[in-house]
Amino acid sequence: MKHIQPPLSDTKVVAVTGLESEVRSYCRSFPATFARAAGSILETDGGERYLDFLAGCGALNYGHNNPLLRHRLTRYLEDDGISMSLDMETVSKAAFMDLFRLRIMIPRNLDYKLQFPGPTGANAVEAAVKLARKVTGRTNVIAFTNAFHGCTQGALSLTANAHHRSSSSALLNQVTRLPYDGYLGADVDTADIVEKLLADGSSGVDKPAAIILETVQGEGGLNRASAAWLRRIRRIASDHGVLVIVDDIQAGCGRLGTFFSFEHAGLQPDIVVLSKSLSGFGQPLAMLMIAPQWDAWKPGEHNGTFRGNNLAFVTAAATLEAYWSDALFASEVVRKGGLVTHALDAMAADYGGMRKGAGMMQGLDVRDGKRAAQIRELCFHNRLILETCGPDETVVKLLPPLTIDDGDLSHGLAVLKRCVAATCAGPARLASIH
Ligand SMILES: *Cc1c(COP(=O)(O)O)cnc(C)c1O
Repeated sequence: MKHIQPPLSDTKVVAVTGLESEVRSYCRSFPATFARAAGSILETDGGERYLDFLAGCGALNYGHNNPLLRHRLTRYLEDDGISMSLDMETVSKAAFMDLFRLRIMIPRNLDYKLQFPGPTGANAVEAAVKLARKVTGRTNVIAFTNAFHGCTQGALSLTANAHHRSSSSALLNQVTRLPYDGYLGADVDTADIVEKLLADGSSGVDKPAAIILETVQGEGGLNRASAAWLRRIRRIASDHGVLVIVDDIQAGCGRLGTFFSFEHAGLQPDIVVLSKSLSGFGQPLAMLMIAPQWDAWKPGEHNGTFRGNNLAFVTAAATLEAYWSDALFASEVVRKGGLVTHALDAMAADYGGMRKGAGMMQGLDVRDGKRAAQIRELCFHNRLILETCGPDETVVKLLPPLTIDDGDLSHGLAVLKRCVAATCAGPARLASIH
């Protein structure tokens, strides 16, 4: 049969955004219709090229349409590979699990069972918390200030952000919110609070099933927990028979220069949750890593139609072969993260604000949500896509693909610097950049 569709580059679509619910969001920040993408570049239907420092909010660590991954995927599809199989055994799932064991778990001395829930991060968080409640017989869960764990009902109960929480007044209970590392200033070790509340039978905090945390709070403002704090939380949890769940959905898969974000702390979580960049191709895929003694699920107990995604398994396996077979990729991420650190420190020194985050997950807290939004808009005007985050959206956040080349990275940083400078010098400068 002949293809009647015109080639993508000739397709001009009519904007029908009004048809989509008011809930839409990124398309409001970045008003353009995108048609193609490669590496760190997004191209509109009109052929305008944007540098992408959002990268699917960390779901495209290996860039758009990475040819190494796409080649495997197209070959798999052309060979009539399985695309949907519920959770039956497939060669793509087996190959991924085998590589994950060989390239990720064994070299790091990690021993986990793997669970594939529904393909979103929120579904994986739900599964992790359900399992922790099941194996401990407890209901309470400790989550931290500024945490983001997703927007389904259970995951939302763990998420701190008021804007997200306001969508649902019911069933956000059975969670105790405690201050994250640094929340009360540099002089207060908030692990003291966790320790005291758990040790005191009359603290009023019911002994929890789990403590869930991000090592760097991706949506919550790029706050980073120290290795010492993470280790203390681990010890406190172990002392009380409480599970530690690390939500590595955004900070994992190489973002900080190691596959997992907790490697520098030598942490051994009971459950690790991965999603966003696990498939590496923007294909939805989520996974729980469960310490074997906690794998108490009955068959099909956390059910779902899309458990595992064979197309995602194919590209996920390809990421492990292409990027995690030796230390080169990780060391490049560390090096590029250093370039970002250097640039953001200079911007903070020259134009105010503070650098936040770590590795290739950093940002500039300009301490003013309006100014941060202005910077985002100016960047977009200058063909650079990036988002803001934090409780009052005051942090301009950089999440470039980890595969970005030095030329694109330094170009993006230079554009950002101009926009930060423009918003610093007041309305006159602002007008001149338009
Ligand atoms: C994105 C994200 C989630 C939610 O994942 P979804 O796929 O959007 O449901 C949960 N936790 C963290 C840390 C995230 O960044």
